[in-house]
Amino acid sequence: MLEQIYKNARAIPREGDYTDDQGMCLCGECGKPRECFIEHPAGSRKGIIKAVPCQCEIEEEERYQQRRSLEKFQDRVVELRQHGITDKAYTYQRFENDDGRNYVVTKKCKQYVSKWQTMKKHCYGITFTGAVGGGKSFFACCIANALIDQGVRVLVTRLSDLVRNRVQDKYAVVDFHDFDLIVLDDIGVEGATQTAYNIIDDIYRANIPLIVTTNMSLDQLKESTTIEKQRIYDRILQRASYPIKVDVTISRLEIARKNAKDIQDILNEGL
Ligand SMILES: [Zn+2]
Repeated sequence: MLEQIYKNARAIPREGDYTDDQGMCLCGECGKPRECFIEHPAGSRKGIIKAVPCQCEIEEEERYQQRRSLEKFQDRVVELRQHGITDKAYTYQRFENDDGRNYVVTKKCKQYVSKWQTMKKHCYGITFTGAVGGGKSFFACCIANALIDQGVRVLVTRLSDLVRNRVQDKYAVVDFHDFDLIVLDDIGVEGATQTAYNIIDDIYRANIPLIVTTNMSLDQLKESTTIEKQRIYDRILQRASYPIKVDVTISRLEIARKNAKDIQDILNEGL
């Protein structure tokens, strides 16, 4: 009976396979056994010969599992980006598209990404200030996209959009606990309403880092004209505590100087 059950459990020989002197199938590729002998399996008096994976099959399975987990991770990144970045334009703002004009800022932003675990642990965030068109949003989104690529849950939005959604639909409340980082682009254009304060307070209480960009200066944020504004910006600056000023541009001469330095570093390497 048992023999009948295990009858088909032997390895099906493949091209190149051979048998040892016990009649067991060996892999033609790796030479490892594709069958093993099991003495007295449960309830049986006789031993049986059973197929087992050889080295090639074990490695093939490992490769398959690695491919699967990579695919799953990539699917998750796509999902995170769809879920966290509603404005398509933000998704193209990446370090790969940086022209290096503000290389000091670029370096700081890349450091933020590479030190993410520390930033997250201490809820360290950034306030990007600077003139219109300088690239504040660009750098904030570079950080967001680079972290999303690593599987970090980032929400990129505008405070004014969050306020509008919450006012229009009281159920459209974003649970900030679903995210590891919030990026608010262009703060300062929303009204200093109770809703705006509640949203910022929710982000604060979620204990996650906050990155904001604004056309206001740091002084304007610190010394607002009204109490309502002040309490919103106080809360924001508590989380987005590190200021980075993004200048409009650096001159061509400075780019040339920077390139020359880069070339020199490369050519002098190891000298
Ligand atoms: Zn093999």
